[in-house]
Amino acid sequence: MPDGSADTKPRTMPAAEARTLRSPAALVRAGLVPPGAEPELDRLTARYAIAVSPTVQGLIDPADPADPIARQYIPDMAELETAEQERSDPTSDVPFTPVKGVVHRYPDRALLKPLLACPVYCRFCFRREVVGPDGGLLSEAELEAALDWFAATPQVREAVLTGGDPLMLSPRRLGHIIRRLSAIPHLDIIRLHSRVPVAAPERITPEMLYALETDKALFLCVHANHAREFGTAARSALRALNRAGTVLLGQSVLLRGVNDSAEALEALFRAMLAARVKPYYLHQLDRAPGTARFEVPIAEGRAILRALRGQLTGLAWPTYVLDLPGGAGKAPLGPDFAVAEGADWLVEGPLDGMRQRHAEPPRPAHGFPPPHPSR
Ligand SMILES: *Cc1c(COP(=O)(O)O)cnc(C)c1O
Ligand code: SF4
Repeated sequence: MPDGSADTKPRTMPAAEARTLRSPAALVRAGLVPPGAEPELDRLTARYAIAVSPTVQGLIDPADPADPIARQYIPDMAELETAEQERSDPTSDVPFTPVKGVVHRYPDRALLKPLLACPVYCRFCFRREVVGPDGGLLSEAELEAALDWFAATPQVREAVLTGGDPLMLSPRRLGHIIRRLSAIPHLDIIRLHSRVPVAAPERITPEMLYALETDKALFLCVHANHAREFGTAARSALRALNRAGTVLLGQSVLLRGVNDSAEALEALFRAMLAARVKPYYLHQLDRAPGTARFEVPIAEGRAILRALRGQLTGLAWPTYVLDLPGGAGKAPLGPDFAVAEGADWLVEGPLDGMRQRHAEPPRPAHGFPPPHPSR
């Protein structure tokens, strides 16, 4: 292949069609849902947004009814059934909102949600009740109030831009936010959570990279759930972000039918690392309405990760977390390799599966754990 063109290029689409698919009719025309499904899906669209970007469309194999990319983005009537355990605000953003667009739950970091639009709409999204193409863009006054809140809250050391997707802002608007945050002395870190590098890599232009210029530590957490999402265009966008000094992290959701096997997760983490993206979080599904078909039990998630430990580079290991309902925070779910037995530990070897006893030294006189200096 002369120029590495092939693997993510949309399959020979006329230029006029190479735009984001936003309706059941457009999905039918693209051959992604059968024509008979259109009237029903119109009902679903009244509640939940649809968007399949050209890049994502090019990754889908329409001939595969179980395609792991399609499953993430193609709507399904099951979304209109809310299971008993599902909640419209599963991570409890609302009660932790001091000013519009800000979520402050942990002492040292807070979210800034400048808009609620995304390049694609994921069918399992935990904010699915609020995200959409015409929702949630903060007005200038609201954005200034949110930025003023960061400036006036010195215990917050990190601003996490999310949404929606902050890279859906114009470079001009995003540049303004980055400059305002960069001027706040008590902030050390600016972090962005985004699906743009894999779903709409064409947005990572020189202007966008310029907008991200800052003297703070800049982290970008890329949301991707399948190895195939790291195609040629995505890898070039990530390379450009990395070259511009951005630290790249990966976040994924454990999803039934997308990445619920050791092979699929191994391929995903290896694809991330090859693109200089360090896997950070593997999320247990947040129980948003109509997402039950994606849930993988925690015991299964732990077993899959356990099978991977030692088999692939330690750089690939994410923290498997559950964002507890009610705003109690993200709790690590293991798997743990150590169990307490009396004063000792039984520790399982990832390579041989055998347990070894690890005897502890005598307890220190001050008890355990030692007091934290700041508490
Ligand atoms: C997830 C989240 C963060 C970031 O948490 P980390 O564990 O630092 O990645 C911050 N604030 C809120 C409200 C969150 O939900
Ligand atoms: S990109 Fe993120 S916020 Fe947007 S629909 Fe997907 S999961 Fe939800």
